[in-house]
Amino acid sequence: MPHAEHVFLDGRVTLQVGDLTDQAVDAVVNAANSSLLGGGGVDGAIHRRGGPAILEACREIRRTAWPDGLPTGQAVITTGGRLPARHVIHTVGPIYGRHGGREAELLGACYRNALALAEANGLRSIAFPAISTGIYGYPADQAAHVVSLALSRHLSGGTSAVDEVRLVFFDRRQLASFVAHHAFPA
Ligand code: ADP
Repeated sequence: MPHAEHVFLDGRVTLQVGDLTDQAVDAVVNAANSSLLGGGGVDGAIHRRGGPAILEACREIRRTAWPDGLPTGQAVITTGGRLPARHVIHTVGPIYGRHGGREAELLGACYRNALALAEANGLRSIAFPAISTGIYGYPADQAAHVVSLALSRHLSGGTSAVDEVRLVFFDRRQLASFVAHHAFPA
């Protein structure tokens, strides 16, 4: 169980250290790249553990909905394959410094659009990695501020059926940085 100090928004958001691919939730969110055809970091781990069904579903999305790739900030949903999670919601985080000052807006859009897709599919629990803070270079302290504000606004609207949002950090240092810089209401 996460320590009480790592629970926010009346228990709907929890922070924990762990591996995203271990999470038994309705959907885990993939920090994908726009090709949707696999990459390093979380993306590689999800495809390795989830097996070929996820990649096949991503190829189908490229063939149909997004032939030129998924734009930054958008989200799509596939099977979870062999993951403990039933679904994967793939979103493309901003590459820090490459969006002319729109990075925060785009990072917030990743979380909002992933939640909206979960809601549209009747899902209740979702686990996020720290999108863009790895290979894409988004400073973790700034990401904490942006992500906590986006989640607070979205979940306090009262219309979301998602009642469990897990923020999963790969190590204790990343979690501590988030805790130090978040903007969740007390
Ligand atoms: P991006 O390209 O969006 O930066 P990365 O996958 O490189 O995505 O990293 C995003 C974050 O996820 C980083 O903080 C990284 O440490 C973390 N991470 C990498 N693998 C895992 C995993 N299996 N579970 C949880 N977090 C992970």
